[in-house]
Amino acid sequence: MTLEEKAAFLSGKNVWQTWDFPSLQIPSVFCSDGPHGIRKQAGAGDHLGLNASLPATCFPTAATVANSWNEELGEEVGQALGEEASAQEVNVLLGPGLNMKRSPLCGRNFEYFSEDPYLAGKMAASYIRGIQSQGVYACPKHFAVNSQELRRMAMNAVLDERTLREIYLTGFEIAVKEGNAKAIMTSYNQVNGTYANENQHLLQDILRGEWGFDGIVITDWGGSNDHVKGVEASSNLEMPAPGLDSARMIVNAVKENRLSMESVDSCVDTLLDAVLTLSENAKGKPHVFSETEHHDLARKAAEESAVLLENRDHILPLKSGCKVAVIGDFAVEPRYQGAGSSIVNPTFVETIEHNIHNYDLQVVGVNRGYRRTGEADEAMKKAALDLAATADVVLYCFGLDELSESEGLDRIHMRIPQNQIELLEAIVKVNENVVGLLSAGASIEMPWHYCCKAILHGYLNGQAGASAMLNILTGKVNPSGRLSETYPLRYEDTPAFRNFPSTERNAEYRESIYIGYRYYDTSKVRVQYPFGYGLSYTTFEYSDLKINNDSVTFQLTNTGDCDGSEVAQLYVGLPNAIVFRPEKELKGFKKVFLKAGESKEVTIPFDDKTFRYWNVRTNQWEVEMGTYRIAIGASVVNIKLEGELRVEGTTNQYPYNPAKLPYYYTGIVQNISDGEFQELLGEPIPSGKWTGDLGVNDAICQMYYAKSRLARFIYNRLTSIKKKSEAKGKPDLNILFIYNMPFRGIAKMTGGMVSMEMVEGMVTVVNGHFWKGMKQIVGGFFRNQRANRVYENKLTQKKIDKA
Ligand code: BGC
Repeated sequence: MTLEEKAAFLSGKNVWQTWDFPSLQIPSVFCSDGPHGIRKQAGAGDHLGLNASLPATCFPTAATVANSWNEELGEEVGQALGEEASAQEVNVLLGPGLNMKRSPLCGRNFEYFSEDPYLAGKMAASYIRGIQSQGVYACPKHFAVNSQELRRMAMNAVLDERTLREIYLTGFEIAVKEGNAKAIMTSYNQVNGTYANENQHLLQDILRGEWGFDGIVITDWGGSNDHVKGVEASSNLEMPAPGLDSARMIVNAVKENRLSMESVDSCVDTLLDAVLTLSENAKGKPHVFSETEHHDLARKAAEESAVLLENRDHILPLKSGCKVAVIGDFAVEPRYQGAGSSIVNPTFVETIEHNIHNYDLQVVGVNRGYRRTGEADEAMKKAALDLAATADVVLYCFGLDELSESEGLDRIHMRIPQNQIELLEAIVKVNENVVGLLSAGASIEMPWHYCCKAILHGYLNGQAGASAMLNILTGKVNPSGRLSETYPLRYEDTPAFRNFPSTERNAEYRESIYIGYRYYDTSKVRVQYPFGYGLSYTTFEYSDLKINNDSVTFQLTNTGDCDGSEVAQLYVGLPNAIVFRPEKELKGFKKVFLKAGESKEVTIPFDDKTFRYWNVRTNQWEVEMGTYRIAIGASVVNIKLEGELRVEGTTNQYPYNPAKLPYYYTGIVQNISDGEFQELLGEPIPSGKWTGDLGVNDAICQMYYAKSRLARFIYNRLTSIKKKSEAKGKPDLNILFIYNMPFRGIAKMTGGMVSMEMVEGMVTVVNGHFWKGMKQIVGGFFRNQRANRVYENKLTQKKIDKA
C-alpha cells in the first residue's frame, strides 16, 4: 500500500463503511449500531437513528438486561445480535455500551449496564462473547469516562487515577480481558485534558499495554479531534467519513516527521487484520435469522430483567378471572427502547392492550388516561377514573416519556411527568388495588410508590416486553430481576449532585470512587430501593457460610411454594482501612434457580479484583493487609451471611494522608472543597472556564457569547428549534447533535466537503472577524476541492497502473 492508501484506510469511506481497495483485494467492512438490536441503514446513513433501518429484533436495553444479573442470558442475547448482524452483512456491531452511571440524569443511562463496574463488565463481557461467536466483532463503548450528554464532544472529565481505574475502567478491563473484545470505541470527551481517542495513557499504557488488547480502536462518530495524534496513540479508525482531509493530515505529518511511519503501519496492520478476518468470517453466512425465536428470546430477557419493587398483600400474581382495568398511554403505545443511535426498527411490537386478552383475566376496559406529553386532560382523567372504579385491580402503565431518555440530552430532574402522578393519586382513591407497571430506562424518584400495592418495573424491555410483564403479573413467570442501580429518595441525595452536568468545560469527578451505592452505603444515606434489590413470589434462605482463601460457599434454599431464582451477591469491605474505600463493594454474584423446597450449595470464587485497590503512590494495583468483611446479600443492604477473612497485603507504602482527605475518609463527598479535591488529584484543578474567543473545540451551543451577531443569531435559532421540539415531547436529535458538537465536527461529519481550514475560518467569523474568516472559508473551500482531487487521482492512478 502507498502512504496515501494507508492514510485513507485509517478513516471511514462513508457513514458506516471502511475504505476498500479492490486492486489490493482489501474489502470494506460495515459497522452498525447497536447495543440492543441491529440498526443497519440500507439507504441514507446517519448516526443518530433518524433514517429508517432494516427490521431487526429489539431486545431489552442494557440497563434492563443488567437487572437479570445473568451472564448466560447476556451471552444468548449477544449471540442473537451477532446472528442478526451477520444476516444483515454487518461486520462490526457498535456495542455494548458500558459507561458508568455517575448520575441518574445522564440521557443515555438506558444504554448502559450499571453504576457498578464489576456487574457492568461481566454483563458486557457476556454480550461480547455472544456477538463474537458469530464472527462479528463487538465494539464496547464509549472508552472512557463518558457520563454526560450535555456538550459531550466538548467536555473534559477531570478525575484522579484511582477513580479512573477502579470505577471508570474496570468494566472495560473485564470486557476486554474476559469478553476478548476485538474492537473498542473511544468516547467523545477528554480525559484529564486529552481526548480519549488520542490519549496514550488510555490507549497504549492501559488498553494495549496492561490489558493486552490486540483489536481495533474506533473513534465515536465525529469524535476524532486530531487524527495524527489519534494514530500516534494507536487509534485505528476515524469514523464516520471525514473525507480526505484527515488522510492528508496523516500524509503531511509523516512527510514532516511529526508522525512515524511505524505508527501508521502498526495502525494499518491491525485494521487490515480485522478487515480480512471479518470478511473471511462473513463468507457463506446465512442471510436470514429466525424472527420468532429471537422475539421469544427478547421476551425471556425481559422476563428475567423485570424487577418487582413492591407486592403488598400479595396482590401479585393476579388471581385468574379477576376483573382488571388497564390504564395508561404506555399500555397502548409502549415505551420499550430509548432514542438516538441505538434505536431499532423492530420486527414486531407487542402491547399490553393487545396481549392481555391472551390471559385468564377479565378486562373491563383499556384507557389511555393521560397525555404522554405531560399536559393535563380532565376528560381523559375522568374516563380513566370511571373505568378504574369498575375493576378488582387496576393495571397502571406509566413511566418516563420519550424526551427523558435520549442520546444527546440529559434529564434535568428525576421525576416522571406530573400528570401521570396526579392520575395515579386519583385512581387510588377510587380503587386501592393498583398495580403499577413501570417503563423507564433509568432510576427515578418515586415518592408516590405508596399508591401502588405492587410495582413491577419493566425498564425498557424491548419488543416482547408486554407479554413478559403479563407472564409475571399472572404468575406464569416468577420475577427474578434485581436492580443494577440505586433508586435514591431524591435527586439531591445523589453523590455527583453538585457537579453534574459540568456547567463549563470541565466535569469534575469530585465524588471520586463513591458512585451509586458506594456512596449511599458508606455515608448512610437512606434510599428508596437499594442496589441489588428485587422481590420474588417465593422466599429464600441463606445458611452455612464457608469462607476459603479463594472463594465463599453457602447453602441457598427456596423456602416458598413456587420455583424461582435468587441473585446472591458477594460484597467485600475492609473495616478501618488505611486507604479510604467504600463500606463494601460488589465482587461477585450468582443467579441460582431453585425449585420450591430445593436447596443448593453455591460457590462464588474470588478473583484478581476481590481485594485490590489502585495505589496512586506505587502506581499499581495493591492489596491492603487486613481482616476483610465478606458478606453475602440479597441486596447491598440486605446482608444474609457474613464472616471475615485475613488477607496479606502487597505493600506498606500507602498513598494518602488521611488528615488531608477528611471527607474522602468518611464518604461524605457531595461537597468536596477545592483543596481536598486538589489533594486527591495530586495536581492543581485545571480551569474549565470559557474565556475570550471560541475555538474549534468549543461546542456550537457556546455561541451565546460569540462576538459575531450572526453567530448569536444562529445560536438563538438553534435554541428555539430545540425548545419547540421539546415542547412537542420528542427530541430533535439532529439539533441536539449540532448543539453539543464542537466546530471541528463540521469537518469531521461532512464527508470531505468541509476541511479543518474552513472550520477555522468559521470560528474566525464567530469570533467577530467576518471578512478574515470568510476569506479563509472561501479560499479553504477551493483548496480543499483541489487537494481532494489530487488525492483521489493518486488513489485511482494506482488502480489504473495496476490494471
Ligand atoms: C454514538 C455512538 C454510536 C455512533 C454511531 C454516536 O453518536 O455516540 O454510540 O455508535 O453515533 O451511530
